[in-house]
Amino acid sequence: MKAQNGMYIDGAWRPAAGTGYIDVVNPVDEQVIGRVPAGTAEDVDAAVRAARAALPSWAATPPAERAARLAALRDALTARKDEIAGTVTAELGSPLPFSQAVHVSMPIAVAASYAELAATHLFEEQVGNSTVLQEPVGVVGAITPWNYPLHQIVAKVAPALAAGCTVVLKPAEDTPLTAQLFAEAVHEAGVPAGVFNLVTGLGPVAGQALAEHPGVDLVSFTGSTAVGRSIAATAGAAIKTVALELGGKSANVILPSADLARAVHVGVANVMSNSGQTCSAWTRMLVHRERYDEAVALAATAAAKYGERIGPVVNAKQRERVRGYIAQGVAEGARLVAGGPEAPRERGYYISPTVFADVTPEMTIAQEEIFGPVLSLLPYEDEEDALRIANGTVYGLAGAVWAGEVAEAVAFARRMDTGQVDINGGRFNPLAPFGGYKQSGVGRELGAHGLAEYLQTKSLQF
Ligand code: NAD
Repeated sequence: MKAQNGMYIDGAWRPAAGTGYIDVVNPVDEQVIGRVPAGTAEDVDAAVRAARAALPSWAATPPAERAARLAALRDALTARKDEIAGTVTAELGSPLPFSQAVHVSMPIAVAASYAELAATHLFEEQVGNSTVLQEPVGVVGAITPWNYPLHQIVAKVAPALAAGCTVVLKPAEDTPLTAQLFAEAVHEAGVPAGVFNLVTGLGPVAGQALAEHPGVDLVSFTGSTAVGRSIAATAGAAIKTVALELGGKSANVILPSADLARAVHVGVANVMSNSGQTCSAWTRMLVHRERYDEAVALAATAAAKYGERIGPVVNAKQRERVRGYIAQGVAEGARLVAGGPEAPRERGYYISPTVFADVTPEMTIAQEEIFGPVLSLLPYEDEEDALRIANGTVYGLAGAVWAGEVAEAVAFARRMDTGQVDINGGRFNPLAPFGGYKQSGVGRELGAHGLAEYLQTKSLQF
């Protein structure tokens, strides 16, 4: 795999300050496929300085020109779509058709949406005797995870550039090659030097240096709740703006009037896709007691079909973490109806698609984020019970409701403490705000709401 031996800072690939590097491993066969430099605080400092120096001129660039650069970025990503899909497959292990259909297409759609929003957004409004200006927040420190390696980057960088902010990105250590391809696309798109900078490296080293850097005005982080909490504390001490997209434990609520077979099939597909490494995955399926056994049988059969279809999880640590949760589910009395903790293949970080029945809301597997292909089915007695279970975790990122009538599903969705709800299998919308209630995060990404995260207001009175 192609790998750059440097950091993209101030419009060029520059040698790293230190000599450390990170091996990139293919999760399918555990082979090293490349290496990238492990950035230090010195690299982060150089990148932040470049971003600060580029800020005044990029912030003053007319929105139409910023929109043109984003449109060029969309085109540069599109031109490289096969190379990006191959790279995501190599470093994340996701099957190629899924990389093409989701890992590449979704971020291209998001980049396109911000090219349009930058061109049409009103950066100025009249409020009585005031003119309210919407100005860029400043230098953004973006820290992203590996699960949707390009999407997580584009969901931060595109709105930040549209707003007139400059960016330093620290991508996940498991998927830095995709981030390097993104930097090449930014370069090809003619984005001025210093507006976007990339520092690869370890979270506790380069990530922490970025979150702590006094030259960063806004830290936008996607990842685990544990790291998010420490980043928020650091940012809070410095009175910096912080945006957090964290974990989830979403409920898929199947009301008694729903088309059960469809709801279960779509629900299983949702959890198995990307090998369960989706923060918004509906990992808890809630079914009325009367239809519970039927749902369990449908889910077990559906999950078994994913055995040959899903890729591995991202690394050995993640595989052990997921297997640990499966073992804990068994130990706490849940009933395995598909899959299990045994490794299905000799090589690669594979986990069998796993389904648990007889899960109670208090069990660890019903409370904690597993981030693997593991689904729990929970029975409920009535609608109030379903709502109590659905809202009964510290998370609130996403969810789903199925019912015979849309209005019935919507009435239930209104009472859910969560940031996104798909009604009867509603489609992903790249313009709809995405983000969490409760410990799932602070702030929203995507669409106009995502752009607003990178803007601050100034009121002029007349
Ligand atoms: P992680 O929190 O370990 O890492 C995320 C990023 O933070 C990586 O770039 C990592 O290098 C960096 N990081 C780690 N420690 C750091 C530190 N001390 N200071 C600064 N940066 C640091 O998470 P992960 O394992 O990469 O991703 C899985 C988690 O991310 C899951 O919990 C998942 O739910 C969550 N996630 C949430 C969303 C969302 O939109 N809400 C999306 C994807 C993933």
